[in-house]
Amino acid sequence: MFGEFLQVSQGIDTALAALLGLLIGSFLNVVIYRLPAMMLRGWLEESVGNLMPADSGPSLWRQVLGTKGPAIPPSLERCAADAAVVLEGLPPLTLSRPASRCGQCGHGIRWYENVPVLSYVALRGRCSSCKVSISARYPVVELITSAFFALCAWRYGITPTGALWAAFAALLICQFLIDLDTQLLPDSLNYALLWLGLGAAALGLTGISLSSAVWGAIFGYLSLWTVYHAYRLATGKEGMGYGDFKLLAALGAWLGADYLIGIVLVSSLVGAVLGLVLLGAGRLAHKNIPISFGPFLAGAGLVCLAVGPAEVKQLVPFAFPFVPG
Ligand SMILES: [Zn+2]
Repeated sequence: MFGEFLQVSQGIDTALAALLGLLIGSFLNVVIYRLPAMMLRGWLEESVGNLMPADSGPSLWRQVLGTKGPAIPPSLERCAADAAVVLEGLPPLTLSRPASRCGQCGHGIRWYENVPVLSYVALRGRCSSCKVSISARYPVVELITSAFFALCAWRYGITPTGALWAAFAALLICQFLIDLDTQLLPDSLNYALLWLGLGAAALGLTGISLSSAVWGAIFGYLSLWTVYHAYRLATGKEGMGYGDFKLLAALGAWLGADYLIGIVLVSSLVGAVLGLVLLGAGRLAHKNIPISFGPFLAGAGLVCLAVGPAEVKQLVPFAFPFVPG
């Protein structure tokens, strides 16, 4: 009787989490498309601001060169001033503004056209106004987020631990796709992952000790940092970015120091699979499209969560040398 009650309650929890996952997935789509654009715009504004005479001029030169430095040519000042006017005239860009529109015809998307998955099916994947096809990636992201939320609720219940692992999945889904699209790994998401992971370990919610989480973060960062600088010294090229170090540090904070070799192994597997998928989709035909390490790392974190952290250790025991047994 009590067992049945528990099963029903586990089913209800899982269904509720799946629903919440659809809504969060819909929000993640916004984050994936807008956050890189917001970052690029911020950098552009910063660069233009640094060229403006009020900010650059003698004091900036003094910081850079230690001397007064050359005068900034008037043409550059004019150019920077023009660019600043253009940037100031742009409509605001945040996660909530402007409201979602069709990229083709500018049709404002109404709330009933924005219901996760259902609207996509009802609209048969086309804009209701101009009939241009909508990327299938939107509902796929919603469904995958929903699946991870359901898994977390089923495994951990609707508890702080379940919520934390769901947040882990949501942040990794964003990093996976943002890096795949733009070769960027936003610091804001990497640091959210890192601090959440360390905080969760401190509270004993991820099942690993705080010391293992801290060493996981330290070794995660330093291992890729070392590879990066060794590669740069040997070849003169930059093989990956600082975002990759931060992401592996964050994964170390969630999964523990003894997981790092396992994550790197799983990420090469994810890399091989992703490479084949992209090859199949013709995305790698253009040789110049760089593929960064971030999607593999984020994918490895998601695989570890999907399989179950304990099960990953059983599947690749040789990758966990610090763990006895
Ligand atoms: Zn349209």
